[in-house]
Amino acid sequence: MLPVVTLKSRRAQPFFNRHPWVFAGAIARTKDDPIAGAEVRVHDHEGRFIARGLFNPQSNIRVRLYSWDEHEALDQTFWSARLDEAIALRKTLFPKWTAESACRLVYSEADGLSGLVVERYGDWLVVQFTSLALSQRQEMFVRLLTEKLQPRGIQLRTEKGIRELEGLEQTDGLLSGDPPPRPMFIEENGLRFGVDLTEGQKTGYYLDQRDNRAAAARYMAGHRVLDMFCYGGGFGLAALKLGGAKFVQGVDVSASAITLAEGNAELNSLADHCRFEKAKAFDELERLVAAEEKFDTVILDPPKLARHRGGLNKALRGYHSLNRLAVDLIPPGGILVTCSCSGLVGRPEFEGMLADVATKSNRRIRILESRSAAADHPTSVHCFETDYLKCYICRVD
Ligand code: SAH
Repeated sequence: MLPVVTLKSRRAQPFFNRHPWVFAGAIARTKDDPIAGAEVRVHDHEGRFIARGLFNPQSNIRVRLYSWDEHEALDQTFWSARLDEAIALRKTLFPKWTAESACRLVYSEADGLSGLVVERYGDWLVVQFTSLALSQRQEMFVRLLTEKLQPRGIQLRTEKGIRELEGLEQTDGLLSGDPPPRPMFIEENGLRFGVDLTEGQKTGYYLDQRDNRAAAARYMAGHRVLDMFCYGGGFGLAALKLGGAKFVQGVDVSASAITLAEGNAELNSLADHCRFEKAKAFDELERLVAAEEKFDTVILDPPKLARHRGGLNKALRGYHSLNRLAVDLIPPGGILVTCSCSGLVGRPEFEGMLADVATKSNRRIRILESRSAAADHPTSVHCFETDYLKCYICRVD
């Protein structure tokens, strides 16, 4: 019999509704002292079975739930079937895979695999574990992924902060096969990008913005564009190539991002129409406002500003200042592309922030498109935390 985790009264509803995160505060008692990573049953306070999950005494997410079927063991057969479902979805989204295709193959809660992210870049896979229990099953996942996809190599990357939150002890590196070329090249919306799976930010590239880059570009014909937080130049280069923008100024605080963006501009024969500069976003925006510069489009794609609930208000103030400055650079009829990848900042809060920016700057802001991550990063209706990426394309008058 599996160890049983019993919830407090009136705390079970989210889990009957299939939310996969059982926080420590919802738990009344735990029987049989399960070890880290152990499979457990979660019951409501009257002893009714809710779901099967994996236990982590070190994480605030004490149990992650995977199956709501009492008789379904969380064994290799189970994980294999979940991987198959995740892969099947991406096969429908990307039917013609090439050595330069790239997508998110497994997206944690959205694929019923809370704690596992897998991205596929051509013939390579990048794996991220965001839960201790799944990272303990690393060998099995590597074996299953190898059987199903025959990648040339599998690279492990670990997200900042996750080791502490989950008690993970793992070192990034090659898990199997050959190391990926550095850089390797991927194709997106008819552009090519160099990505570094070993040392680049995140897993080497921000795949989630793929469709947003193309959507935003449509509004930028003839525009002078400011691409703030440009990383490898994803938005700016799409603006030039797909949207017919006239000129792009990219800004990022990271020197390696600037080098990458310059390389990508060369690679796509767009270097004559853009310039990339290493600077801090706030400083640069303030400088440009003071110099009374104007850009027909400003793109804001900052890193995650809220990492925990306590930082929510500070994050909203950060978004407010960035957007306020950006609006000052945009002439009437211009475009603001403003993003947030903080899962903790909800759409209502972000939209409220935009309303306040409009009022304070005495400008009219209309949302033309309210977008999210591309379809290979789906949103689970049981876990809206998976809807972390917001991308608003706005007209500013
Ligand atoms: N727009 C990019 C992704 C941006 S990710 C794309 O389409 O791929 C966020 C970027 O912000 C990172 O490249 C990071 O280096 C940069 N960054 C973080 N803090 C910054 C700051 N204070 N000023 C400017 N750039 C910053």
